[in-house]
Amino acid sequence: ADSHLYPLPELPYDYDALEPAIDKQTLTIHHDRHHQGYVNGLNSTLESIGKAQKAGDFGDMQKLSRKLAFHGSGHVLHTIYWASMTPKKTQPKGALLKAIEADFGSVDTLKGQIGAAAGSAAGSGWGLLAYEPVGDRLVVVQIEKHENQIFCGVVPLMVIDVWEHAYYLKYQNRRGDYVKAVMDILDWDSTAQRY
Ligand code: MN
Repeated sequence: ADSHLYPLPELPYDYDALEPAIDKQTLTIHHDRHHQGYVNGLNSTLESIGKAQKAGDFGDMQKLSRKLAFHGSGHVLHTIYWASMTPKKTQPKGALLKAIEADFGSVDTLKGQIGAAAGSAAGSGWGLLAYEPVGDRLVVVQIEKHENQIFCGVVPLMVIDVWEHAYYLKYQNRRGDYVKAVMDILDWDSTAQRY
């Protein structure tokens, strides 16, 4: 069972690589403590589910399902979030650019839409660019509580974390400034790979 535990993935760049958009202290705390917390929670939830399986007692399934969704979504979304940003300057191209133009009209429209979704997510949440395989199209999804609100079946391609821990040390309540800064460090190459 241990081989199925989730490890905390390393950042694909140094802790200070995204400055000034995202400062070193924020990135360090966000990755080493917040993301680690989701990984720990996910693994301990899986351990509890394993015990329930062995005991044949699924009386706690509602509680365990919520924990699995909360920590599992948190882990996956943070993993995509780190990969959604880069200190290199990248631009959408190829098949990803074609899909963006087909489903949004232009890259600027997509940026406006995902920026608005991230900027207006209530309290804590995410702006997400995702691939929806049933209709073979790209969609922007606003996530308010990642354990509750999800477009089932979508494949996350690029995500912006707008929980306060993602920006508060540097931006305080100016979430819009943080979202705007993130727009300039998006990693379109890794997004294209996932697409
Ligand atoms: Mn976060």
